[in-house]
Amino acid sequence: MKVEFTVLGRLYTKYQSEYEEAVLRILRSGWYILGNELTKFENDFAAYHGVKHCAGVGNGLDALCFAVSALGIGPGDEVIVQANTYIATALAVSETGAIPVFVEADKFFGIDPEGIEKAITEKTKSIMAVHLYGQPCNMDQIMEIGNKHNLHVIEDCAQAHGAKYKGKLVGTFGDAGCFSFYPTKPVGAMGDAGAVITNSNELDDKVRMIRNYGSKVKYKHEIIGINSRMDEIQAAVTCVALKHIEEGNGERRAIAQKYLDGIKNPKVVLPDLRPDSEHVYHVFAVLCEERDRLHDFLEENNIHAQIHYPIPCHLAGCYSSLGSKSGKIPTAESFAKQELSLPIYVGMPEDEVDYVIETINRFK
Ligand SMILES: *Cc1c(COP(=O)(O)O)cnc(C)c1O
Repeated sequence: MKVEFTVLGRLYTKYQSEYEEAVLRILRSGWYILGNELTKFENDFAAYHGVKHCAGVGNGLDALCFAVSALGIGPGDEVIVQANTYIATALAVSETGAIPVFVEADKFFGIDPEGIEKAITEKTKSIMAVHLYGQPCNMDQIMEIGNKHNLHVIEDCAQAHGAKYKGKLVGTFGDAGCFSFYPTKPVGAMGDAGAVITNSNELDDKVRMIRNYGSKVKYKHEIIGINSRMDEIQAAVTCVALKHIEEGNGERRAIAQKYLDGIKNPKVVLPDLRPDSEHVYHVFAVLCEERDRLHDFLEENNIHAQIHYPIPCHLAGCYSSLGSKSGKIPTAESFAKQELSLPIYVGMPEDEVDYVIETINRFK
């Protein structure tokens, strides 16, 4: 048996007629950028979260960057970011001219509140909380620290659509929730797309201006913006994906439960679940001291696993000028050495899940 890490075609097949109807409808409408479909998606996504605003943008990196920028953060400012995240979280900060200050992770792969407190300086403007792998960060403590030190909180929800902390959806705690709709994410487009959700009229206004050449009214360019819009086809496709969010999250949770119940190997550490939170398992992350050997063993058995992520952000070549050294952020560094992501996606056949479990249990 062969097990791919993900097969997007299986998601497409599952909702094929809905996706095809959506795309054809837009093709036939003759309107492709900033139209009714984007407005509908923005309204649906805001309503799903119970927030006032949602602005669709070109991708998740821009969603993060626009949120940072719209909060007035830029050159000379510092933003606290966990070291164990996809590089985009940090790049979004750098793109505004601000400096990402990398800190430690807690055992649930979220930003460590203690690490945040230690990193605060007079230049700190914001905390970036990444709900990595689909599991919420400790939002009670993060919001408390943010309020105490008068810092903004931005949530990177690129992997956590529909995840909840104490019954409340991620993205609704901080000043802004930033989402990616990259095709493999829990809610995916069929191309690039992203969004910023917020209850702030001012922040929403600014994000809308930045995404559209800095203008709210045609040909009146009030700030320096760029072109990064979620197009009508992606909006229509993402509306379909959003409609099935609970179904998709439920399906991945059921696979995760099979892994949690079935994997029994003293060399493989299953993910710790944060109490009072609902994980959506964009990634099912196990830890193994002999990670590379486990990875090779799975490959030999035709199972494709992946590593998220092999190099923590503070040790990435692009941040060498910040002068961080190996050993400085030990938990995040150990995750980079030990983490392995098992296949988990909508449409993954049960016999493949069973085969992954059986193979991992054979690893010696
Ligand atoms: C995917 C991802 C992003 C970036 O999203 P894109 O749409 O690919 O630009 C940012 N942060 C995290 C944690 C992600 O997983």
